[in-house]
Amino acid sequence: MIDQFGRRIEYLRISVTDKCNLRCIYCMPLEGLDWIKRNDLLMYEEIAHIVKMMADMGLRRVRFTGGEPLVRKDLHTLISLVSKIPEIEDISLSTNAVLLSEQGELLRDSGLNRVNISLDSLRPDRVDAIARRSGSFEKIMAGLEAAENLGFDPIKINVVLVGGYNDDEIESFALITKHKPWHVRFIELMPTSSNLNLSMNNFISCQDALNKILGLGELESVHGPRGNGPAKYFKFPNSLGTVGVITPMSHNFCDECNRMRLTADGQLRPCLFGSLQTDLRGPLRQGLNLIPFIEKTLQIKPERHNLIKGSEEGSGGLVALSQTGG
Ligand code: SAM
Ligand code: SF4
Repeated sequence: MIDQFGRRIEYLRISVTDKCNLRCIYCMPLEGLDWIKRNDLLMYEEIAHIVKMMADMGLRRVRFTGGEPLVRKDLHTLISLVSKIPEIEDISLSTNAVLLSEQGELLRDSGLNRVNISLDSLRPDRVDAIARRSGSFEKIMAGLEAAENLGFDPIKINVVLVGGYNDDEIESFALITKHKPWHVRFIELMPTSSNLNLSMNNFISCQDALNKILGLGELESVHGPRGNGPAKYFKFPNSLGTVGVITPMSHNFCDECNRMRLTADGQLRPCLFGSLQTDLRGPLRQGLNLIPFIEKTLQIKPERHNLIKGSEEGSGGLVALSQTGG
């Protein structure tokens, strides 16, 4: 699958639900959202069918995301279906890890290869304040430990930089990589219409984060772990893990974009932001051939996003990343 700008698309991020057991301040409003109706949610067999169609066209890697993917019942059955598609070489999961210690073993045994875990602070009170659900920290740490014990590799930890909330922990996060083989990735906060104030007033760039980390000692630029997308990676001499930065705001990486997204209600989106999407659910349920719909989406993939801090227009019309699978 090659788009009109010559980019090869071989990666699909699949949101399996728009619901979540947390309410991260930069992501989802406290009161939740207008959830997708049950009938509009793609069934697991339907998702697997779409993946198979796209695999025939060149898709090689999938990631399950949400909302929180582990709140959807029996996610392991979907992993199992997708792991039987021979062209799919890599299956990964983005999770807040709250339910990972319960489900990790079954997910691994069903074919899940690796996990990205969101963890925005190393302090329990702060995790609770950012996630706005008390008691999350202990569960997330148990999930992280389970991921390690179950042999998921590589383990990537996503930290969204939020000024005043976690910017004084950047060095502590980076130091973890000296003795753990984890890949700690700092992500710049992206604007959505539900976080305009935060994205304007609490923004910290990855360059700010790197400057702090450089104060700890020398860093070398390295090739990232398996499945590396837009992150740029660095490491301290002799450290086991790496530090990564993901810079959607300060350094646009759209020219290397290799992905499309499938929402939980079956919309194929060529870009995380903006309003472009193609309905696959309707044609799928009418028994139509999906290839023309997939090809059309590929051809309308925009050259780049146009995110602007604190701007409704510059957030590409999204209320929250949880709606499209961040
Ligand atoms: N619930 C899962 C989790 O938190 O990992 C998967 C879905 S979440 C939308 C995927 C990733 O998007 C997480 O790493 C989260 O921190 C990140 N994210 C959500 N909203 C964001 C925003 N406004 N700016 C930057 N990253 C964001
Ligand atoms: Fe939920 Fe993930 Fe959004 Fe946090 S970032 S509210 S865990 S979907």
